[in-house]
Amino acid sequence: MSWQHRISLALTGRQQKGQMRTRRVNQHSDARTLQIDGTCYLNFAANDYLGLSHDPRLVQAWQQGAERYGVGAGGSAHVTGYHAPQAEFEQQLADWLGYPRALVFISGFAANQAVIAAMLAKNDRIFADKLAHASLLEAAAHSPATLRRFAHNQPAALEKLLQHPAGGETLVVTEGVFSMDGDSAPLAELHRLSQRQGSWLMVDDAHGIGATGEQGRGSCWQQQVKPELLVVTFGKAFGLSGAAVLCDDDTADYLLQFARHLIYSTAMPPAQAWALQTALACIQQGDELRQRLQQNIALFRQGAQALGLALLPSATAIQPLIVGEEQQALALADRLQQQGCWVTAIRPPTVPPGTARLRITLSAAHRPEDIHRLLEGLQHANR
Ligand SMILES: *Cc1c(COP(=O)(O)O)cnc(C)c1O
Repeated sequence: MSWQHRISLALTGRQQKGQMRTRRVNQHSDARTLQIDGTCYLNFAANDYLGLSHDPRLVQAWQQGAERYGVGAGGSAHVTGYHAPQAEFEQQLADWLGYPRALVFISGFAANQAVIAAMLAKNDRIFADKLAHASLLEAAAHSPATLRRFAHNQPAALEKLLQHPAGGETLVVTEGVFSMDGDSAPLAELHRLSQRQGSWLMVDDAHGIGATGEQGRGSCWQQQVKPELLVVTFGKAFGLSGAAVLCDDDTADYLLQFARHLIYSTAMPPAQAWALQTALACIQQGDELRQRLQQNIALFRQGAQALGLALLPSATAIQPLIVGEEQQALALADRLQQQGCWVTAIRPPTVPPGTARLRITLSAAHRPEDIHRLLEGLQHANR
């Protein structure tokens, strides 16, 4: 088989199963709306939970950062790419979340891959929630450690795994708020079980940070849990992009030695780190935004229940509607688009077979009339 043959076979396979993934050009957007093929839609598919992606304070901060510090880091942080805005931002994050150290990464995907690759060795074990993000599960699958997945949000299932004696160390991995279901992990119970066995807990709070907890400190703060490793990302509620790992001093020093994604990659642009400092300030003072988000969530859930739609137990901005079959989910998303609402259908392999869904996401930027329009759209589309 040639490369060409292999590639074309994979493509036809995807096509035949109706699983082709495509990209659409977003011609123009603000925090509420987007324009595709000349048509404007309300955006219910973004992760911009507080509407900060277009906030004038952040746009201005990025411009100011570019003028002061330049647009590129110029190298890895280990060479000359570690600029003052990033060093300051790391300190601010550590203080805010109550950890000795924070290390900034270029993305959440890179942070998860880097931590798992650097920490785990042969004879170690990773116990991950079954629904953990692809960046975690993929890194775990590629690591020399043994990966076992436990039933979603079931501490008893984790406890069973932990009872088997280990040759090496054990890392328990979960998310604060699950990206495709919107539900929250029982972090206190998971941490208690891990600690009892001398294991470490790693929490990826991509969807909780900024959006929940006092001052937006996220799921762990809200549940009064301090995992040994906390990953937060800046592409969602923060409105920009990037990520950080929060940990103790030794672990930070260790990652600086062994995390290849830090050592062999250009550091975050200093202008972006500068803008992220402003985003952090907006989040710390963002009670009003979080309140507006909560109101939108409540409005949507009330309306959806009145329509008899089956909601998942989610108190977060992620409000999926499980449809079942892929084609049905795609058709429903299509009909909603005809009603002016942009919602994405999420299909296997991103979610388990038979659980294709609409992943509806809400934002503080949505107005009450936007939520009503979505509910009307759902009512029409379901007929
Ligand atoms: C989005 C996401 C990531 C990846 O973060 P990026 O910064 O977008 O690379 C990691 N984990 C979870 C749970 C996510 O939802």
